[in-house]
Amino acid sequence: MSVDYDVDRKPEEVGQKNYRKFHLIIIKPTHYDDEGYPIQWLRSAIPSNTLACLYGLAEDCQKRKVLGESIELKLHSYDETNIRVEPKRLAKMVQQDGGGALIALVGVQSNQFPRALDLARQFKALNMEVCIGGFHVSGCISMLPEVPQEIVEAQNEGISFFAGEAENQRLDEVLEDSFHGTLKPLYNYMNDLPNLDNQPDPILPRKHIIRTLGSHSSFDLGRGCPYQCSFCTIINVQGRKSRSRSADDVERIIRRNYAQGIDRFFITDDNFARNKDWEALFDRIIDLRHRQGFNIKFLIQVDTLCHRIDRFIEKACAAGVTRVFIGLENINPDNLLAAKKRQNKITEYRQMLQEWRDHGATTYAGYIIGFPSDTRESILRDIEIIKKELPLDLLEFFYLTPLPGSEDHLNLYRKNAWMDEDLNKYDTNHRVSHHGKMSDEEWESAYKEAWKSYYSREHIETVLRRAAVHKRGRPSNKLFLMLFFHLMVKLEGVHPLEGGFFRLKYRKDRRSTLPLENPFVFYSRYFAEIIGKHWGYLKDVTRFYWLYYKLKNSPDRMNYSDTALEKGSEEEEEGLRLYKDTAGGEAAIEKMKKTQAIRDRVAAKNVSSQ
Ligand code: SF4
Repeated sequence: MSVDYDVDRKPEEVGQKNYRKFHLIIIKPTHYDDEGYPIQWLRSAIPSNTLACLYGLAEDCQKRKVLGESIELKLHSYDETNIRVEPKRLAKMVQQDGGGALIALVGVQSNQFPRALDLARQFKALNMEVCIGGFHVSGCISMLPEVPQEIVEAQNEGISFFAGEAENQRLDEVLEDSFHGTLKPLYNYMNDLPNLDNQPDPILPRKHIIRTLGSHSSFDLGRGCPYQCSFCTIINVQGRKSRSRSADDVERIIRRNYAQGIDRFFITDDNFARNKDWEALFDRIIDLRHRQGFNIKFLIQVDTLCHRIDRFIEKACAAGVTRVFIGLENINPDNLLAAKKRQNKITEYRQMLQEWRDHGATTYAGYIIGFPSDTRESILRDIEIIKKELPLDLLEFFYLTPLPGSEDHLNLYRKNAWMDEDLNKYDTNHRVSHHGKMSDEEWESAYKEAWKSYYSREHIETVLRRAAVHKRGRPSNKLFLMLFFHLMVKLEGVHPLEGGFFRLKYRKDRRSTLPLENPFVFYSRYFAEIIGKHWGYLKDVTRFYWLYYKLKNSPDRMNYSDTALEKGSEEEEEGLRLYKDTAGGEAAIEKMKKTQAIRDRVAAKNVSSQ
């Protein structure tokens, strides 16, 4: 039996009963740009881990026939960053094929919530069941004393929400309820975080991977982080205890992907160095690479103390980690303390980065702008220090953002302080609160200038020179990545993490709160933008590749060195601006010396007692 998904019919006129088929349509929504158009690309940058997790869980439901022996569960998945989602077309597809359907909007972050709600309302108007999950819902439920208005309003319209993680067969209940037309307003699993070992594999069908640049797939091997950073939502959603998949799990995930021709992966754990089973997981991957001939490579995320874990970097690189994202956040100890990021010790930054570099890994760091003691001048000074004294490849800037689900958000909420009401702006690329020391204009200009300064022609050349002098430096790869970051910010006006190749825009997909534009105005501007941007790409790509060509063929290519690369004497190290000019830098040196003295005393005691 099929159901008539017709816009003109009222929801209550259609019941979902006696189906022989049921469609689970999993959608990872994008968010709107400043003009109100969904940010979409012909090829997007990063595949979605949540989509992979949910697809794997849905496949498991399909295998276990959770809706009954005679019901066929059909799966459909869409990553809206690289494919257009058209509710009417999907409703028609279900109508033609027959059966009921559930629209699962997954992994919805705060900035994606307005887009998710717009989609949800369109699907509801087509009389389809909708459930929204992800960090926004989970973060709000976990931290706020009451459910936010935007969620309550949507619940009143019949939209269902899921808070928490869907492992441990929790998707069964949502599917069964949806099948019987009895979806609850809220599925709340926030107080019950599941174990991850031996759960269904996070897996994305190949059709998603080929729509991303670099053809990476993504999966998580663990969740939870022991630290307490006040801007972080992860600890309040995924907890502070490390939960990990097993070595057998990682081998199975890699083998399944490899069978689809996928060999590059983003391991999305927010801090893989604190995964309690990191070593067993790396050992299994090392075995796959070195004994079984798998040509696989990884991007991972770690903290700034990862080099202190015995053999962590060595094993990571043996396992095929070629790129590493590090939560540097700031170089002023006073700011790090204010954000409860006590584990970040600026006295460790240079050694940590130099060790990754020695092993041939490309380093990315996140840098937050707008901590309490930041001023426009101090921010620009800090970027100069980083450029000169840290051997870092890529730097990504973020506004300090009170993300719903973080301690910072809760504090501002309690104080009734101003926070922008538009959740679409909570993408860390927009300012959504005021700063204690900077005016709004100063903060915004410092953020823009930071990007400009780091991705200046001079600094791109410095990073290329540093790479060219290293036998595993891969300068061409670094140039590609730096150019991508630079051009996404300069020409596309989006954060590189949301970037992609060839921007797609659809006039009718504009945000519901904004009017549809006249087709002539929309298309003439869109085509002018395409031409203008591609001319900009051509100019910068030619300019930088010419620079690269000259550098590669330069006779003194191997003679380059600078402060960032050199391991100086104790005195030279202490004289760096990293310690002299930053707020709390000299105190950090004193503290580091005391800690080192204690370590030395303990080591001496151990030797004498042997
Ligand atoms: S280290 Fe990273 S994941 Fe852990 S609490 Fe801090 S920001 Fe969150």
